[in-house]
Amino acid sequence: MEKRNELYAGKAKSVYTTDDEDRLILLFRNDTSAFDGQKIEQLDRKGMVNNKFNAFIMEKLEAAGIPTHFDRILSDQESLVKKLDMIPVECVVRNIAAGSICRRLGVPESMDLNPPTFEFFLKNDELHDPMINEYHIRTFGWAEDVYIERMKELTFQVNDILKELFMSGGMLLVDYKLEFGVYKGELVLGDEFTPDGCRLWDKDTREKLDKDRFRQGMGNVVESYEIVGHRLGMNFD
Ligand code: ADP
Ligand code: UDP
Repeated sequence: MEKRNELYAGKAKSVYTTDDEDRLILLFRNDTSAFDGQKIEQLDRKGMVNNKFNAFIMEKLEAAGIPTHFDRILSDQESLVKKLDMIPVECVVRNIAAGSICRRLGVPESMDLNPPTFEFFLKNDELHDPMINEYHIRTFGWAEDVYIERMKELTFQVNDILKELFMSGGMLLVDYKLEFGVYKGELVLGDEFTPDGCRLWDKDTREKLDKDRFRQGMGNVVESYEIVGHRLGMNFD
C-alpha cells in the first residue's frame, strides 16, 4: 500500500490518499485538542495508543455486525481504512449525564439516563459544533432519510455492544460520539472510537479514564487510556 498525498490534517489525525482510490491512511498524531481546538498539547505515545485502541474496538464492532471503515493497522500510528463520503454530523449517545448535557439542561453529572439519549451535532468547529435535529439534516441536505435512520440504529447497536465490553473490564460507558460516511451506497462507521471521543468511568470509583482528564487538567491522560486498553486485553507494545 503506497501512501500518497495528505488530503486533510484534522486536530488529531491526518488523512492520506493511497494508490487505491477506495482506501485512505489515517495517521493518529500525538496532538490532543479540546474546547474546539483552543487547548492543544502533544502527548507522548498518544497516537500509537489511540491507533491500536481504535483497531481493537473497530474489529470488535465489525465482528458484532457493525459495518466499519477499518481495514488494517499499517504501523504504530497508521491504519488503512475505506474512503468514505463523510456525513458532517456527530451522533452522541449518553448513558450517564456528563459534559455538555449538564450545562445545557442543568442535570447533575453522574445521573443515570434511562433510556439513553441520542443527539446530533453539526461537525463545524467555527460554529462550535451546534446541536441539530433531523429536520436540519434533511433541510440542509447533510444526509438522506435512510442514512439518518441507519445512523441512529447503528449508534444504538454500538451502545449495546460496547457497554457490555467496557463493563467486562469494570468500566461504565458514559457517552460517546460516532461519525458515519457512505461507501458504495452503504452507511459505514468511520473516524475513530478511542477515549478521545467517549467518556469511561471506573464502575466502582467513577474515576474518569478518558479525555476529560485532559480537558480538566487531571494528568496521566495517555496512561489512563492504556489502563482502559489493558483492562480489555489490548497490547500496546
Ligand atoms: P477533526 O476533523 O474533527 O479535527 P480529526 O483530526 O480526527 O478530526 O481528523 C480526521 C478527519 O478524517 C475527520 O474530519 C473525519 O471526519 C475524517 N475521516 C475519518 N474517517 C474517514 C474515512 N474513512 N473516510 C474519509 N474521511 C474520514
Ligand atoms: N465528543 C467528541 N467530539 C466532539 C464533541 C464531543 O468526541 O467534537 C464526544 C465527547 O468526548 C463525549 C461525547 O462526545 O464523549 C459528548 O460530548 P459533550 O456533548 O458532552 O461535549 P463536551 O462537553 O465533551 O465538549
